[in-house]
Amino acid sequence: MKQKGRYGTYGGFYVPEVLIPAIEEIEAAFLQFQNDASFVAELNALLTHYAGRPTPLYHAQRFSEAAGCSVWLKREDLLHGGAHKTNNALGQGLLAKVMGKKKLIAETGAGQHGLATAMVGALFGMETKIFMGSVDVARQNVNVHKMKLLGAEVIPVSGGTCTLKDAINEAMRYWTANVDAFYLFGTAGGPHPFPMIVRHFQTVIGTEARRQCLDQMGRLPDFVAACVGGGSNAIGIFSAFLDDAAVKLVGVEGGGKGLDSDHHCATLNKGRPGILHGSQTYVLQDEHGQIHDTECISAGLDYPGVGPEHAYLKDTGRASYVAVSDEQVLNAFALLTRLEGIMPALESSHALAWLLAQKGTLPPDIVAVVNLSGRGDKDIGIVEEHRPIN
Ligand SMILES: *Cc1c(COP(=O)(O)O)cnc(C)c1O
Repeated sequence: MKQKGRYGTYGGFYVPEVLIPAIEEIEAAFLQFQNDASFVAELNALLTHYAGRPTPLYHAQRFSEAAGCSVWLKREDLLHGGAHKTNNALGQGLLAKVMGKKKLIAETGAGQHGLATAMVGALFGMETKIFMGSVDVARQNVNVHKMKLLGAEVIPVSGGTCTLKDAINEAMRYWTANVDAFYLFGTAGGPHPFPMIVRHFQTVIGTEARRQCLDQMGRLPDFVAACVGGGSNAIGIFSAFLDDAAVKLVGVEGGGKGLDSDHHCATLNKGRPGILHGSQTYVLQDEHGQIHDTECISAGLDYPGVGPEHAYLKDTGRASYVAVSDEQVLNAFALLTRLEGIMPALESSHALAWLLAQKGTLPPDIVAVVNLSGRGDKDIGIVEEHRPIN
């Protein structure tokens, strides 16, 4: 049984016995409906007319000059809700609907997944509870307000670092006592079947991006880069290019104040295999297996685990995983904003920062696609704190 949902040795589902029926019910429904013609048609209609797909692939020419290569942005920031999270929330929300579920629960870090779930809860008329670390409630308060306006209940979680890890713990705990609720998990991590389901609903990013590359450039890119928190936007865009051996896949983690400090979120760079939130994967932990506190500028990446498929892609070498510092991220945010009139989420700015750091090492005819996972409106307060405008 624990062999299901494996990526090499990673993945599986390590959950309390009482949750097994609930996750098996979700798995069975997903397998039944993922290719069901009317489910697919309804989801596609929502993705098109509600969420605004396809999102553009945009050639950022002024940013390209700054980076020293040709940079194309997959504009998930333009998706309804302001981030890629809407793809997954609509997919799982529709699954909950066809399963006859009336209640949604979800965890959130930066608030983008909570916001997407609250939107879908409103759309489908479902009672929605969002678990959010109290530190994140404070630093992402605009999203908290939005979730409440959408009719969701936001439950602040204190404990641990009061961030995403603790919100997931509390949501799992709540689910254990309320198995009639649908747990709408936000990233391609956690216990099987969530990595499989979230990946499935995010592959639309990669499928579109690959086709747009062929249509708009007449070729595939040399690099595809994406930020990695739990790994859903990255696996969403990587998935379509996995079989294109010449396309290099780069996942960018939160390097915080630096990888030598204890203040970072670079799980694949500095973690070791272990089990967190029901999944065998890389985990930031000490020698006794205690989970490390994480700290980086972007709440959406502030997580000591990562989706199991990324652990596998790292070990097999198909993708590489790097980290950038908070300072680099703030620079990249400022640069894209000033050069292109596009304000990226701090999460997405990690992928841009990695590209900027390659300047001078890549020939100018190199083509890089960056997944711009979300827009930066939610982050302007944090940017202002670090870089006050005088
Ligand atoms: C949530 C979020 C992320 C991180 O989550 P992944 O599952 O790693 O994609 C990245 N960017 C934005 C804009 C987010 O909201």
